[in-house]
Amino acid sequence: MKKKESCIFCRIARGEIPCYKVYEDNFVIAFLDVNPASRGHTLVVPKEHCSDFTTCPKDLLDHCFEVAQAIAQAQIAQLGATGVNVLTNVGASAGQSVLHFHIHVIPSYREPILGLKGTNLQIEDKEMLLLQDEIKKAI
Ligand code: AMP
Ligand code: ZN
Repeated sequence: MKKKESCIFCRIARGEIPCYKVYEDNFVIAFLDVNPASRGHTLVVPKEHCSDFTTCPKDLLDHCFEVAQAIAQAQIAQLGATGVNVLTNVGASAGQSVLHFHIHVIPSYREPILGLKGTNLQIEDKEMLLLQDEIKKAI
């Protein structure tokens, strides 16, 4: 079976698998995550298959983030969220389990749901300068 035929988010986009849909247009569908990190945790998914954030065509990427912004605003206005985490995982080592690009829009309610605090990674100035250079020259 071809990847797009078996891909779970392609199947949701085609209406073959049910979901708690909150938004749909010609290019994007958004639905509640079945294993939510918080009440209202929503996934924004392009209908066209692409593997992740790094491979999504720019126009489609822009549109996905526009929809993610509208969903975050709705979570604040209607669900009473006091904050929102917007994130997208790229690759297994970043925790990506569904290999069809999606944006998590995760409302929080007074307490942080996610955070980068506590990593405690110390990097010396020399290596920070190297990292800065490596990323700069590859853009
Ligand atoms: P990631 O780990 O970034 O690839 O996120 C994939 C997310 O998709 C997880 O949070 C899952 O709970 C969610 N998920 C997987 N299958 C479904 C489904 N059928 N409907 C809704 N959410 C799903
Ligand atoms: Zn797919």
